[in-house]
Amino acid sequence: MTNKDLADLIFPNITKTIEDYEKMYPKRNLPEGAVVTRFAPSPTGFVHMGSLLAAFIERKAAKDTNGVFYLRIEDTDQERKVENGIVGITTDLKNFGIDIDEGAISETEEKGLYGPYIQSDRKEIYHAFIKHFIENDMAYPCFCSKEELEDIRNAQEKRKDRIGYYGRYAKCRKIPVSDAYEKIKNGEKYIIRLKSKGDFERKIKVKDAVKGIVSFPENDMDIVIMKQDGLPTYHFAHLVDDYLMRTTHVIRGDEWLSSVPVHVQLFEMLGVKAPTYAHISPIMKEENGIKRKLSKRKDPEAAMSYYHEKGIPTEAVKLYLMTLANTNFEQWWDANKDKTIDDFEFSFNKISKSGGLFDVEKLMNISRNYLSRIKAIEFYDMLVKYAKEYDNEFYELITKYKDFTIGLLNIEREQKKPRKDYAAFSDVKSLVWYMYDELFDKHDKNYEFTNITDKDEIINIMKTYVEKYYDENDDQSTWFEKIKDLSEEFGYAREVKEYKENPDSYKGHVGDVSMVIRVALTTKSMTPNLYDIMKLFGKEKIIKRIEKLEKNL
Ligand code: GLU
Repeated sequence: MTNKDLADLIFPNITKTIEDYEKMYPKRNLPEGAVVTRFAPSPTGFVHMGSLLAAFIERKAAKDTNGVFYLRIEDTDQERKVENGIVGITTDLKNFGIDIDEGAISETEEKGLYGPYIQSDRKEIYHAFIKHFIENDMAYPCFCSKEELEDIRNAQEKRKDRIGYYGRYAKCRKIPVSDAYEKIKNGEKYIIRLKSKGDFERKIKVKDAVKGIVSFPENDMDIVIMKQDGLPTYHFAHLVDDYLMRTTHVIRGDEWLSSVPVHVQLFEMLGVKAPTYAHISPIMKEENGIKRKLSKRKDPEAAMSYYHEKGIPTEAVKLYLMTLANTNFEQWWDANKDKTIDDFEFSFNKISKSGGLFDVEKLMNISRNYLSRIKAIEFYDMLVKYAKEYDNEFYELITKYKDFTIGLLNIEREQKKPRKDYAAFSDVKSLVWYMYDELFDKHDKNYEFTNITDKDEIINIMKTYVEKYYDENDDQSTWFEKIKDLSEEFGYAREVKEYKENPDSYKGHVGDVSMVIRVALTTKSMTPNLYDIMKLFGKEKIIKRIEKLEKNL
């Protein structure tokens, strides 16, 4: 009775060999230095900030090197599966502009030549590899019951030994092949374990692309590689998939760092080169002075839906992720205001070793900067998309008054120091409602007059202004000259300076009069450039606003 007989008994229908699969999934034909990365989530239906950061880094590293980035769905733990779990993930990735070169697209579709990309569709492939391991005396069936494993554990605790299935505790390792064969034939339940050749007293050194050189004891545990349901464990699936999909860089959360000895050993036993590992630290959050991991359960900002609902542009989230991904990015972006993330060169050794601190304020600030730097039409298109989903009334208005809205968004944009009013699309309506009559009419109006508050004076100034001075064809300097003329007519100084020199000779100055106009038309004492607002309004709307003012004051 040989190992081969045992392997044939366990996998009677597996005829393909490892060599067959190696031919089916040959080394990728990519330029020198190209990086192949993957995003490998369980199909839990959503992506959270931490995994988005990983996906983002994976995408960026592959793109920068003309490599490949693919999506693999890791569903070997069938209990973690949720309905439409794949679509939830692909949608989140799409929403954040993280496009995949290969991989799962939906529950049933995928693209690329290195698939299937859903692990539960790869059972046959795993079995061929497990068969190879058994044939070559690198794996064996284990028949231990729950109770037996429990006993082993208790014994280890009592002796203060390391917990696990190894060395003298690895009972089933010693079962002769013929006995194992008989047991399986008799229908006994089993799993498959690795026959580890590692020695815990020896050390291995691995160069992690983020953490640097890390050293561990060799793995001597006979870890489970195939469960009773016939599916492999994460460790074994990782070996097979990342080998056959020709992954060059395994970028993943550092909760996997401690598995590196097992993984390196698996690649060694298979006789192939292990990929480069890059373990990224979790995103941290500081709360009441205490640092902890950003939590998908406790922190709403860990969920992608949070950004979607608030209307924080995906590009801003990506820019923020880039600051978390590469510590030198922020400085670069400041110096290269007209450039995009694509222009920035990512490097593994600039990933923070300790894990970035999640800072919503900073994200909002980045968003504010980003939104101030794009063209009004781009802003408008995104705003329309957002409003369509979250604010129908505003959607109707901004689509009805498209040019007006773009004009409004364009005020003080495309200049050296653009205005930075908006951090999110959900801010817009509450900041510009007064521009739209439909919103203005139903809004509570609190006219924020400052120095000039007398109703008659205000109405007088406004009426005189439109009747005598305002011409919608004036350029900005003529427009302002006329406000000065108006000021003079009402006994206000043309220049602030004049007023300051002789405060008793004037009722106030041109600034006070401009403020009256601003507040009379918008109710607000702070608005974007008044000249632009009035230009967008046009004379007729200005006259109507004065009538409304008269009624409301
Ligand atoms: N399925 C694993 C997880 O969700 C993936 C880890 C990896 O990228 O290898 O944590």
